[in-house]
Amino acid sequence: MTIKTTGKCLCGVVTYEVEIPDKPFYSGLCHCRDCQRYTGTAFASSLMVDNGGVKLKGKLKFYGKETDRGTFMERGFCPKCGSNVLCKSSDWDNQYVISAGTLDDPSVYNPRLNIFTRSAHAHAMDAGKLAKIEGSPAERT
Ligand SMILES: [Zn+2]
Ligand SMILES: [Zn+2]
Repeated sequence: MTIKTTGKCLCGVVTYEVEIPDKPFYSGLCHCRDCQRYTGTAFASSLMVDNGGVKLKGKLKFYGKETDRGTFMERGFCPKCGSNVLCKSSDWDNQYVISAGTLDDPSVYNPRLNIFTRSAHAHAMDAGKLAKIEGSPAERT
């Protein structure tokens, strides 16, 4: 069973439809240094899908970089707001990796593993243990 769902960048100029399989080949949190830098945060939450099931509206601006493994990864950003929407790699013929934060319905994303934990920020491994506040820090009691 695949789920048909939708997503978009922060400003909404780039939107997409995507088919998500029950058990994607990859669905997880990547802690590699490249993902830390391109997201500007500790890890990338993403999932792999067949690119044939992705219908993009709006044009992404791609930025390409060689990986440690010698493959070439291209990350697609909204040219207006800069959100990363998806990535493609010279390693994958028919796949995209979709950035989970762009999904309209976060409940369709079920990460199953952490990868490249050798470069993980220590706090990212312990994120579940941090204090939880439902809104902004100003709402702390
Ligand atoms: Zn945008
Ligand atoms: Zn990564």
